[in-house]
Amino acid sequence: MNLFQPTASSRTLDDNQWLDWNRAVFKLFRQLWLITLGVELLLFLTFDPSESLLSSSAYFLHFILLPSGLEGLVLLVVQLLFTKLIPSHNRRVVSLYTIILTSSFAGITVCVHTSVSMLPAMLLLPMILTPLYKDRAMTLLQAVLVVLLYIANRFYFTPNSPYILPSTPFSPVTDTLVFIGGTGAAYILLARVNESLLLNEERSRRDSLTHLFNHENFYEELNCYIRDHRQKGSAFSIIIADIDNFKKVNDTYGHAFGDEVIKQVSKLFLLHEKKGGFSARYGGEEFAMIIPDADPVMTAEKIRSDFEAYDFQTSEGVKHFTLSIGAAVYDEGYANASVFFEKADAALYQAKKNGKNQVVV
Ligand code: GH3
Ligand code: MG
Ligand code: MG
Repeated sequence: MNLFQPTASSRTLDDNQWLDWNRAVFKLFRQLWLITLGVELLLFLTFDPSESLLSSSAYFLHFILLPSGLEGLVLLVVQLLFTKLIPSHNRRVVSLYTIILTSSFAGITVCVHTSVSMLPAMLLLPMILTPLYKDRAMTLLQAVLVVLLYIANRFYFTPNSPYILPSTPFSPVTDTLVFIGGTGAAYILLARVNESLLLNEERSRRDSLTHLFNHENFYEELNCYIRDHRQKGSAFSIIIADIDNFKKVNDTYGHAFGDEVIKQVSKLFLLHEKKGGFSARYGGEEFAMIIPDADPVMTAEKIRSDFEAYDFQTSEGVKHFTLSIGAAVYDEGYANASVFFEKADAALYQAKKNGKNQVVV
C-alpha cells in the first residue's frame, strides 16, 4: 500500500483552515516587507555619496524603491491570484503560493543587493520551510527555484550591478558549484525530514492492528466527500460492516484469534480501497468504507461473500465466519455526516435483525 497516496482530507482544507492559512501567510509577508523596507531605509542614512559611484537618488531608486516596489507588487499579485481567482482550497495551492512568495522575496533581495557577499546564502532559507508543506515535490520545486535564482544572481545581476563589488577569492564558477552542492545536500536532508513527517502523520491516522484509518479520520473524510458532492455533484455511498456473533468467536477461540479475524476483514477492506474510496476501523469489530459511486451493493456483497468463504484454521478444524453490512447512498436530503451515517447504521441493524450474513441498503 502506498502510504504517500494523498487522501481527500490531506488534499483539501476546509473553509476556515483555508482562511486561517491565508491570513497567516499574507500577514507574515506584509511584516517581512515592512522589516526589509525599514532596514533599507536605515542603511540609506549611513550612505555617503562621496565614497560611491552612485548619487543619493540613484541609490534610493536602486536599493529602496526597486526592491520594495517589486516585493509589494509580487505580494499584491500573488494574494489576488491565489485568494480571488483560484477557487481551489487545496493544500498544494497554499504550498505553491508560499513558495512563490518566499522565493521572490529572497530572490529580489539577493539580486538587488549584489554588493553584500554572503547574501546569496539567504536563498537557502526558503528550503528550510518546505517540510512544513509535508509534500516532497514542494522541496524539489523549491530547490530548483533556489538554484535558478542563484544562477541569475551570479551571472546576470552581479556582473550588471551598479555598485562597487567586493573582491572575492573565488571565481564565479567555484562559487556556483559550492552553492549548488550546498543546495543538493540541503535538499536531500529536507526530503528525508519531509518523508518522516509524512510517515508519522500517516501512522497516527491509522489503527495499529489493521492499518485502516481511525474513526475520526473517517468523519473528516466523509465531510470532504459531502463537500465534493455539493460542489461537483460527485456520487458516493458508504457501507458499515460488523462481524456476526463475534463475542462467541472470542469466547470460543480466544482474543488473539479474534484479532486475526478482525485483520482478515481489514484486508478485504484495504483490497477494495485500492480501487478508490476510503476505509476505516470504525469500532472494535466494526468497519466502514466510503465508496466513490452510487452503487455500494457490489462492493459490499463481494466483501461479505469473500469473508464468508475464507478458511480460518482453528483448534476444531477449518471454520467460517460471517459479516453483516449496512449501506446507504448519499443525496442532498441528509442534513450532515452523522445523519447520513446513522442511515447506514440503521441498515446494518436491519441486516442483523433479518438473520445476519447479508447486505441491506
Ligand atoms: P452481533 O452478531 O450482533 O454483532 O453479535 P456480536 O457478538 O458480534 O456482538 P457485538 O458486535 O456487540 O460484539 C462486540 C465484541 O467485539 C465485543 C468485544 O469483545 C469484541 N471486540 C471488540 N474489539 C475487539 C478487538 O480488538 N479484538 C477482539 N478480539 N475482540 C474485540
Ligand atoms: Mg459490534
Ligand atoms: Mg458483531
